[in-house]
Amino acid sequence: MVVLVIGGAGYIGSHAARALRRRGHEVIVYDNVSTGHAFLASGFELVRADIADVATLKSVLRRVDSVMHFAAHAYVGESVENPRKYFRNNVESGLALLNACLDCNVRRIIFSSTCAVYGVPVRIPISEQNPRQPVNPYGVSKLFFENALEAYDRAYGLRFAALRYFNAAGADESGEIGELHDPESHLIPSAMQAATGARREMELFGTDYPTPDGTCIRDYIHVNDLADAHVIALELLTGGANSMEVNLGTGRGYSVKEIISKIEEVSKLKVPVRIAGRRPGDPPALVADPTLAEKLLHWKATRSLDDIVATAWKWMQRQDSKALSS
Ligand code: UDP
Repeated sequence: MVVLVIGGAGYIGSHAARALRRRGHEVIVYDNVSTGHAFLASGFELVRADIADVATLKSVLRRVDSVMHFAAHAYVGESVENPRKYFRNNVESGLALLNACLDCNVRRIIFSSTCAVYGVPVRIPISEQNPRQPVNPYGVSKLFFENALEAYDRAYGLRFAALRYFNAAGADESGEIGELHDPESHLIPSAMQAATGARREMELFGTDYPTPDGTCIRDYIHVNDLADAHVIALELLTGGANSMEVNLGTGRGYSVKEIISKIEEVSKLKVPVRIAGRRPGDPPALVADPTLAEKLLHWKATRSLDDIVATAWKWMQRQDSKALSS
């Protein structure tokens, strides 16, 4: 099958592109390379364009069977400060993309959704039964897209999988691709940068949460486990499965302090930490109930927190040595 991976030069999209190729699918990457990096898509045909560029998008959509859509802004904190940016790209351009899919008769789409659609969950672990009440504009923008997918399924027979990620982390075991944001704001790479001295310290956002050690709890899932789930979901849809909305997590949560300790253990370095206030929009704990994914996709995360931190560390060291030699 020919799959258009939109946002395939980004972190999760680049891992999904490789997972598709490993399964024998043909991949075209579509990315405006605004936050992604062309080298993450090396070895693939790369169309450098924005999803708002509907003419270019349609010319490529006519060549494919299915779409995986990763092209979105994805920072909770930034979305609180600049919601306009989030609604413009994730909602307006997202809708343009969906309409272009319909116009080009592409009726299978895998959507990169998020546990942020649940907001502050009523029950933990979070099953798909939790009400969707996002507490930040990022979550709102993703919920809008899910709602649009549901409506297009009912009205036009578009089949979709909305995959609600918990915290994507880690890097491909090859060390060739991984997380690379500028500036970096995610916990694991930020803490590693602090450990190596690439930044003076990391800020720990909030130590007064109602959790056992006072810091936020998240469900960290290896990016290649996520990528595998995307391929499975797409193959199921192709085989005639109904649309689905599924959590992708491990079912196990770790606090910020636990993550920092694991990074210190793997890197054998100290992570300099400065205690800061809470970051707006951060719920205290987000942990998946992965039962539905196991049932529908016959999939579960196989990589541990050790694998996540070890692969992220290998990737970061490789980036550092590349920077030194250039
Ligand atoms: N976090 C932190 N310091 C940082 C980055 C993140 O304390 O420099 C915390 C953040 O408050 C959250 C967790 O680490 O509780 C994961 O944040 P991240 O930005 O990695 O992912 P998010 O949960 O926002 O998707």
